[in-house]
Amino acid sequence: MNELGTPHEVWALAADGETVLLRRPNPDDRDRILAMHRAMSTENLHLRFFGASDTSVRETAERVSTPDRAGCGALLALTHDGDEVIGVVEYNGEAGSGTAELALAVADSWHGRGIGTLLIEHVVAMARADKVRTLVADTLAWNRPMLRVLEDLGLPIRNRLDAGVLTCVIPLDGDDLTTERYLTALARREALADVAGLVPLFAPRSVAVAGAGHRADSVGRALLRNLKAAHYTGSLAVLHPTATEVDGVPAFPTPDRLPQVPDLVVVAVPAGAVPDLVENCGRVGVRALVVVTSGGTPEQAARVHDSVRRHGMRMVGPNCLGIAQTDPATALNATFGWVVPAPGGAGVAVQSGGVGIALMEQLNRLGIGVSTFASLGDKYDVSGNDMLQWWQADTRTTMAILHLESFGNPRKFSRIARAVGRTKPVLTVDAGRSAAGRRAAGSHTAAAVTPTVARAALFRQAGVTAAQTLGDLVAIAALLYAQPLPDGAAVAVIGNAGGAGVLAADACVDAGLVVPRFGADLEAELRALLPAGAACANPVDTTATVDGATLRRCVDRVIAAGHVDAVVLALAPTALGDPLGDILAGPAVRKRPVLVIAPERAAAVELLPAVGGNVPVYGDARTAAVALAHAHERAMWLTRPRGTVPALPDVDRSLARSIAAEFLLRDPEGGWLSPRECARMLGAYGIEPTPWREAFDAEEAVAMARELAPLGAEGAVVLKAHGPHLVHKSDVGGVRLRLIGDDAVREAYTDLARRVGVLMERVIVQPMAESGVELIAGVTQDEVLGPLVVFGLGGVATDVLGDHGARLTPLTDLDARSLLVGSRGAPLIYGHRGAVPTDTAGIEDILHRLSRLADDIPQLVEADLNPLIARPDGVTVVDARIRLAPRHEHDPYLRRLR
Ligand code: ADP
Ligand code: MG
Repeated sequence: MNELGTPHEVWALAADGETVLLRRPNPDDRDRILAMHRAMSTENLHLRFFGASDTSVRETAERVSTPDRAGCGALLALTHDGDEVIGVVEYNGEAGSGTAELALAVADSWHGRGIGTLLIEHVVAMARADKVRTLVADTLAWNRPMLRVLEDLGLPIRNRLDAGVLTCVIPLDGDDLTTERYLTALARREALADVAGLVPLFAPRSVAVAGAGHRADSVGRALLRNLKAAHYTGSLAVLHPTATEVDGVPAFPTPDRLPQVPDLVVVAVPAGAVPDLVENCGRVGVRALVVVTSGGTPEQAARVHDSVRRHGMRMVGPNCLGIAQTDPATALNATFGWVVPAPGGAGVAVQSGGVGIALMEQLNRLGIGVSTFASLGDKYDVSGNDMLQWWQADTRTTMAILHLESFGNPRKFSRIARAVGRTKPVLTVDAGRSAAGRRAAGSHTAAAVTPTVARAALFRQAGVTAAQTLGDLVAIAALLYAQPLPDGAAVAVIGNAGGAGVLAADACVDAGLVVPRFGADLEAELRALLPAGAACANPVDTTATVDGATLRRCVDRVIAAGHVDAVVLALAPTALGDPLGDILAGPAVRKRPVLVIAPERAAAVELLPAVGGNVPVYGDARTAAVALAHAHERAMWLTRPRGTVPALPDVDRSLARSIAAEFLLRDPEGGWLSPRECARMLGAYGIEPTPWREAFDAEEAVAMARELAPLGAEGAVVLKAHGPHLVHKSDVGGVRLRLIGDDAVREAYTDLARRVGVLMERVIVQPMAESGVELIAGVTQDEVLGPLVVFGLGGVATDVLGDHGARLTPLTDLDARSLLVGSRGAPLIYGHRGAVPTDTAGIEDILHRLSRLADDIPQLVEADLNPLIARPDGVTVVDARIRLAPRHEHDPYLRRLR
């Protein structure tokens, strides 16, 4: 987390993984800024100032270090200790003109490390908040680094060349900063920086262990033993106050006395000693830490945090089992667990050590090797997201396994997972949060919807394979590791003992797969192959009398016929022999995945060697079917078209942000927006709720009703009680519809006041909308995956029907379409039995706008448009609520350390 708390004092990662500090300048920075410029080469100065005069340098230092005026701003990049300025970016414009000039300078020794890009990313956010809509950068045409920085931004920049000076016009308004192109460019840069920063952790050239003392049974000594046993390729040392040698490894009293500054220090000293040690490591230039000791007091934790940030170190832990890297070039086992990971393709990150040990043991048993292992513990710094990015870049890793109790930044997690999942499977366990726990989080309809939304579907959308238990995770990993993905859901079940085959077929169907009847040709072929009495449709019962060779031929025929996408064999030993052994005498991998269920075997899953690979063998049918269903899901996800996130006109992000900021200034705890704020915020995103007025007494209500009645169906209006604590208005009789004439309005007002009592602060008057299909569209948050757009049938029946779809943001055109098509209201929306279809484009547009709003305003925790009334000629929003909760105001996509 950013301890300094303000949006522009953040630590961020440069492209090479170095931590740098970004903050606004203050008058004390004048000399630092001068120093940076004066150390710049003449050539570099020339590129920045189109000349090399000291006057421009002094003016710049003066201007930049004096506090911002409206329309102007500046940002510094400093070394992580905050001592040295390494980059300056500024924009200068007339307040209110909407245009400012952009200028950037980076210290010579920091060129090519992404500092310019980082500064510009952040200053773009600042300038936008300052109502600058266009930045103009004048650059010498041969200033390649600057041009590259501008290009890298991913913004649609217009260039104009005049006498060697290139004028780049960078638009900051409208959609550009939230287009997928810009966000993808940001995400890519961020991933590269994160990965570079992890090199000293996972490929250290030297390691020191602190906390390995005389007692051979200590955690530190176990670490040392593991490091030695794995034949770590770099140099190894011990930090010990008195010893000169521990277990044959040279020991030194303090980090500064080590012959060589270690890339990585593994910390196993008592909690009280950790903060000083971490600080000392930082001072001498240690780049990474693994802290296995538990976190200690909050003060100790804060000191560790601070040292890690200031010295630009990356840190795993505290309170963890350690890390391992099996690449023979490094061969690092800095864990104190006793399972030595075998080299291989699975990247494994766990939060708790216990789960880590269990998982590693299972993978070892299966023969699935590990590329990188990390037990992340309390995750002060390195998180599951970092690990995913490491594995994405790591060519040895073919599969990512995460078992985390919390994923850190959910917005980031689902974006990263979606990117990594394209090339390697991402497996995790989602134990499913209890409905009660999640209900506590929200109180209105969209939030109440979440428990009924299948979480599995959200993970599926993110391309994450989420098992329900650790056991299932291992079962799925085995299949993905050993066999090809199935192209479809059709499974052939072949058994040698009737009952087991039927059970397997049932399990497949339960898991969402299909067991189709074979074509006549294949059935005839099998009949010719198998003894009389065999069942040759699907499931196939070969009878117990067939030998292994026949069984194998049977499998080959079924695959060759091409009717199915996978084969599940349910095998029992018979008097004739062991059919499993016969299967394993054949090829392990065919065109389609083959799984075996062998109930007599004790293990839930094994990978048994066959010719050229492994066959997954499961102890029970359910596990096998679940694994296959997940493999199928992954295959579907990979082939499904991804769709595009549409560009949306009429989005005013700064307006929505200032509404949020003002509200939270007034209500720091957060809460529901007032009807006015809610309408303004939706309006800023191009969603116009139906016209409405407020009234505080009956006569005012009558006056407002006269104004609005001409807009209403048959000249009718609606009166609604409103008060900050009134959530479901109709539940307390707080909505009166179809009111025509002054008397009706007057009577309704009195009636509402009587029914709702003190909870009613005012009434809302609206025109009565023409009738149509009542729908709900909303936003809610998933603690793991971030914001969701929710859609379904709405109105007062919402809670009763409980039928809602949800998709992760950003919503693509295909996501929006599938929400509509998949909803129970689809026949009504699309017009069934000759009815005229509603304005589906209008509904989709609202969903896209909500998605964008949720992504842009991280404080928006819940939005609820219920109902939208959809008709052929348009969509009317008659009831809308938005709830905000405080967060650190920052751009959700900017690169910054937590
Ligand atoms: P709440 O959801 O708090 O009970 P709503 O404002 O959604 O209150 O009103 C309840 C129901 O009244 C809506 O679901 C809708 O059927 C109907 N309704 C509300 N406002 C209008 C309107 N302006 N025009 C037509 N029907 C309305
Ligand atoms: Mg409602």
